[in-house]
Amino acid sequence: MPPLRLIVTLLASFWCLSSAALAGPFSTIVIDAGHGGKDVGGNYKKVYEKHLALDTAMRLEYMLKKKGYRTRMTRKSDVFLSLQKRASIGNRYRNSIFISIHYNYTYRKGAAGVETFYYSKRSKPLAQYVHSAVLSKTRAYDRKVKFARYYVIRNVRNPSILFEGGFLSNSRERRHCRKGYYRQRIAEGMVAGIDRYQAARRAGRLR
Ligand SMILES: [Zn+2]
Repeated sequence: MPPLRLIVTLLASFWCLSSAALAGPFSTIVIDAGHGGKDVGGNYKKVYEKHLALDTAMRLEYMLKKKGYRTRMTRKSDVFLSLQKRASIGNRYRNSIFISIHYNYTYRKGAAGVETFYYSKRSKPLAQYVHSAVLSKTRAYDRKVKFARYYVIRNVRNPSILFEGGFLSNSRERRHCRKGYYRQRIAEGMVAGIDRYQAARRAGRLR
């Protein structure tokens, strides 16, 4: 192979490799407060998932902005938003990450803890960073980072996670989740996780 062609081939393969990696830091954080409006989400008496999710999202947004991050909320008030709309907002910002915030509910009263879902392989590190930082802030039971096929994380092309902050069907956890200081800890954990994830992106440690 003549040297020039060899150089061109090498350059081309290098370009392919580097564009497959997550190149550098992300620039925007899309925060998605689950449910809203007519869709109240999980609820126990007057404790609605949609309200807790929005409150946590606003705490998160406030702290991220203070740290200089660029943010975008999918909803800022108690309005209904389709899953398609949420995903399309997530895809509007090319170099972004997407964090969907929820609280859990199940008929099994004993179920408790925090869990974080991802769909694509490249979203897994974001899930791990956020999940472990929230656990250390809240000391909640660890339901682990898991793969799931939820619509928003399946359809947002950027690294995206769906976070479940605790069970409203569990009386002890519901008591925690209703308190502002507890949701504040969740949001603080998320900020710490996002910071570490961004540092890893900046250092080129993630694929
Ligand atoms: Zn939910």
